[in-house]
Amino acid sequence: MVDPATEEAVASVEQLDVDAVDAAVDRARRAWPAWRDVAPGDRARLLRRFAEAVDGDVDELAAIEVRNAGHTIGNARWEAGNVRDVLHYYAGAPERLFGRQIPVPGGLDVTFREPLGVVGVIVPWNFPMPIAGWGLAPALAAGNTVLLKPADLTPLTAIRLAELALEAGLPDGVFQVLPGRGSVVGERFVTHPDVAKLVFTGSTEVGMRIMAGAARQVKRVTLELGGKSANIVFADADLERAAATAPDGVFDNAGQDCCARSRILVQRSVHDRFLELLEPAVAAVRVGPPGSEDTTMGPLISEAQRQRVRGFVEDASEPVDVAFRGGAPAGPGFWYPPTVVLPRSADDAVWREEVFGPVVAVLPFDDEAEAVAMANDTEYGLSGSIWTRDVGRAIRVARGVQSGNLSVNSHASVRYWTPFGGFKRSGLGRELGPDALDAFTEVKNVFIATDQ
Ligand code: NAD
Repeated sequence: MVDPATEEAVASVEQLDVDAVDAAVDRARRAWPAWRDVAPGDRARLLRRFAEAVDGDVDELAAIEVRNAGHTIGNARWEAGNVRDVLHYYAGAPERLFGRQIPVPGGLDVTFREPLGVVGVIVPWNFPMPIAGWGLAPALAAGNTVLLKPADLTPLTAIRLAELALEAGLPDGVFQVLPGRGSVVGERFVTHPDVAKLVFTGSTEVGMRIMAGAARQVKRVTLELGGKSANIVFADADLERAAATAPDGVFDNAGQDCCARSRILVQRSVHDRFLELLEPAVAAVRVGPPGSEDTTMGPLISEAQRQRVRGFVEDASEPVDVAFRGGAPAGPGFWYPPTVVLPRSADDAVWREEVFGPVVAVLPFDDEAEAVAMANDTEYGLSGSIWTRDVGRAIRVARGVQSGNLSVNSHASVRYWTPFGGFKRSGLGRELGPDALDAFTEVKNVFIATDQ
C-alpha cells in the first residue's frame, strides 16, 4: 500500500487466493445458522457494541484512511463516524423485521422476511469505510453472514473493522474481510454457489460483468455504479451560494466521488456571472497534506488515476479549454489541481464520461426543458443538484431528471436515513434508508389452513 500524498509505502497486505476464499465462504456458511437464530434483541445488542467499538476507534480508523487513501482528516473522521452511525441505525432493524398477515379465505396467511445466507460485499477504493458499512450493517442486521472484499488499493480500514467486530463480540465467521484482487476474490464471490447475494459498488463496466455472472446462478445483486451528475443552476437561484458551494459538490474527495456533480449546467443569462463567482470559490479550495486540519482536498489515489484525469484535460485527443483552476502541491504525491473546463459541446469526452477526478465542465442552457434534456443526456443517473428559488420548478425538474438522488439548493448526496442508488447504468437496487433490509432478505409466504 502506498500513501498517495507522499508515494511512500505504508503497509503490505497478503492477497488471498481462491482456496482461501473458499475456506472463508465455508466458515461463513457454517456460522450462518447460529447467527440467523440469535434472538433479535441480542443481534441488535451485538451491532450496537460493534458501533461503539468503531466509535472508540474513530481517530485510529481516520488516521489509517489518511495514509492509505489520501483522504483529508476531516473527511476520514466523518467516514469512520458514518460506519458507526449506520451500524447504530440498522441495530434497530432486527427487532423490526416485520412480516404481514394477509386476509385469505380458508385460513391464515403470514409472511416472514428470511435472511439469504452468505452475502459478499465488494467495495471500491474511493470511500472504503462508508461503502463497506452500507452493505455489511443491514446484511448482518437481517441475519446474514458477510464477506467483505476491500479494493486492492485500500484494504487497511476494512481489516481494522473486522478486528473491531471480533472485539465487540460478533461470533467467528459472521463478518470476514478478504483482501485480494477483483479478478480472484471478487470473481469467486460471483461464482461460488454458497454466496447467496452480491453487493457491488464500483465501475459500471465491472458491475455489468458481475450482473452477467450472477445470472448464471440467479444470484441476487445490488449494484452501485458510476455517475456523471448534473448541477443545474437557474437564473433565479441564489447564485452566490450556488457558486460558493459548487466546488464541494464536485471536488470533495478530489472528485473521486460517484455522486460528483461533474457537469454544471448554467442558465445562459447568468452563465458569465456564475463563472465569475465560481473562480474565487475554486481558488479557495485548499489542496495539500491530507493530515492537516485545514486541508479541504487531498491527492488522487494513484498515478494511474492521475494519468486518467490528465487524459480528459492536458492529454485529451481534442484540445480542452481550461477556464481556471486552483492550486496543487509540487513534488511527490498524486496531486491534481481543481480544474474548471468549458467543453465545446455536449459531445466532448469531459462532458460525457466519468472523470473521477477534480475536473468540472460547465455548459449553458436556455430554458427548463433544455436543462432537463441536457441533464438526462447521459447513460448515468446517480445524483444531481438543482438551484432555483421557484418551488414548482424545483419539483418539476427533480421529477424530470432521471437520477436516484437529487438535492435542491444543496449538494447533499448520501444520508443513511434515506434510500440511495442509481437509475440507468448507475446501478440497480437501493441501499440505506428504512427499506435496505429488503435487499438482504426474501419474503416467505406461509398459509395455515383453519378449515376443519
Ligand atoms: P472497480 O469496478 O474497478 O472496482 C470495484 C471493486 O470491484 C474493487 O474491489 C475491485 O477489486 C473489484 N473487482 C474488479 N474486478 C472485479 C471482477 N471481475 N469481479 C469482481 N470484483 C471485481 O471500481 P473502482 O475503480 O474501485 O471504483 C471507482 C468506480 O466506482 C467509479 O465508477 C465510481 O463511480 C464507482 N462508485 C460508485 C458508487 C455508488 O454508490 N454508485 C460509490 C463509489 C464508487
